[in-house]
Amino acid sequence: MKNLTYSKNDPENGCDSCSSKTCDSCGPVPSDNLFHPVFSRRNFGRTVLAASAGALLIGCGKSGKPAGEAVAKADSLAAGITPDPILVQESKGPILTLLSEFYKMGPGPSSSHTMGPMRITYDFYQRISKLPAEQLNKATGLKVHLFGSLSATGKGHGTDRASLAGLLGKSPADCPPQFLDDLATNPDKSYPVTLGPKTLNLTLKDIIFDATKGDFHHPNTMTCKLLAGPEVLYELEYYSVGGGFIEWKGYVIPEKGQPKYPYQHANELKKYLIDDNIPLGKLLLENEMAISGKSEKEIWEFLDQVAEVMIRGVEIGLTVESVLPGPIKLHSKAAGMQLMKVNKGEAGRAITTVASYGFAMGEENARGHIIVTAPTAGSAGIIPAVLKSLRDIKVPTQKIREGFLAAAAIGYLCKHNATLSGAEGGCQAEVGVGSSMGAAMIAQARGEGPKVVSNAAESALEAHLGMTCDPVAGYVQVPCIERCAYGAVKAWTAYCIASEENPQERRVDLDTTIAAMALTAKEMNSKYKETSEGGLAVSVVLC
Ligand code: SF4
Repeated sequence: MKNLTYSKNDPENGCDSCSSKTCDSCGPVPSDNLFHPVFSRRNFGRTVLAASAGALLIGCGKSGKPAGEAVAKADSLAAGITPDPILVQESKGPILTLLSEFYKMGPGPSSSHTMGPMRITYDFYQRISKLPAEQLNKATGLKVHLFGSLSATGKGHGTDRASLAGLLGKSPADCPPQFLDDLATNPDKSYPVTLGPKTLNLTLKDIIFDATKGDFHHPNTMTCKLLAGPEVLYELEYYSVGGGFIEWKGYVIPEKGQPKYPYQHANELKKYLIDDNIPLGKLLLENEMAISGKSEKEIWEFLDQVAEVMIRGVEIGLTVESVLPGPIKLHSKAAGMQLMKVNKGEAGRAITTVASYGFAMGEENARGHIIVTAPTAGSAGIIPAVLKSLRDIKVPTQKIREGFLAAAAIGYLCKHNATLSGAEGGCQAEVGVGSSMGAAMIAQARGEGPKVVSNAAESALEAHLGMTCDPVAGYVQVPCIERCAYGAVKAWTAYCIASEENPQERRVDLDTTIAAMALTAKEMNSKYKETSEGGLAVSVVLC
């Protein structure tokens, strides 16, 4: 993808050199986030620092301008900071992220090492299914070669079983968990795949862990081949470029339209909503249609599918008790919490219920089952927990769809103006953003006005500022799963606060808190950015 840069590119050490390699934060850094090539990290920090100072001096967002626009004033006031005209003049353009790029469905626990590979092999399966019958008749086998990081770390992630599932024609959005488990527990079993007139039998051995070092186009490279004995009938080289996105040799970035209501910051968005009185759901829907070229019906269908996958994941997670894969030997909690909530009084019951939903989906992610990134795989338990709790109180489908739009808008703002990556910003960028999205979703779905939606999102994000990323043993389990539960509970807490306070009296606006997250990300010690070199990751001793 032309517009992507990489924070770190070490094919030996995983997605992007973090040692956990299991959270979807590993991967490419979209060039429109805080590490845009034009911005050095140091300069960005100066910008945000100056912006924060400016915001305080000119009245905390009451100017109606995003914090970043206060840079010029702040620079002249903040001693020791030299004005940098490039920074204040640089414009990244309007947000163009689409729902399908944001809510991605596929197997956990890693968007780059499980979700991407399954999307790749499913794409290959769909391509070869369309080949002429006479060509397919000659076929004797299918092989997938994993290279670079996919080969070096793919065994621990379950890259092979995710790849085989897609090759067998299982869709990443609705592959049954039992099927994925069966692949893992029966490594020698062969599974049939029908391609036109031909049926081939495949095993995990058809997924080959190939060279870890080499001159690869991308650290996460794979090749898929349709074979007739030694002859290659059809072959394509693919790249799992992070966040569940995939590309292939000759890939061309699809053209996008321009949004009807362009915005880069929450305050610009709020202007449309408050000054022009445009409902948030309508604005976001029309932008999505304009950028993607999709119809309203297609967009609602997509969001309904996202909701279905999330609800299915929570419901499965609530019924399964198991020891999660990996060296931690962590016992799942969601199912047990369902039984324990009865004697806790109203508050205890409500909190236990929401938390158990967060555990359920977080545990499903750890099991390598199908999840939806929201915004990442590590934080994938939060929005499903919020969704299930909204369903519990019978919020209508259309309101839930609009809640998804509001949640996505918060995620877009954080992606555009800060980061969604634990490897860049710590867990505040994953669970913090997920919780903030959840708070906005609840507020929107419950019919609150734009100020309450924005305040709820701000409150939840504020509650996570500074949260580090320190996954024990590099697995997205401790503290990740429990943080999904907390993220969902805090989303409800933030909504309750925002809906009860006077919205005009909130002293911190969303843009300011996003800027603070970006600054905190920049200043956070790298030990706490998904390297498993600090915090819990070194404090917990596994026996
Ligand atoms: S601690 Fe947070 S950011 Fe880090 S891997 Fe876990 S969920 Fe992702």
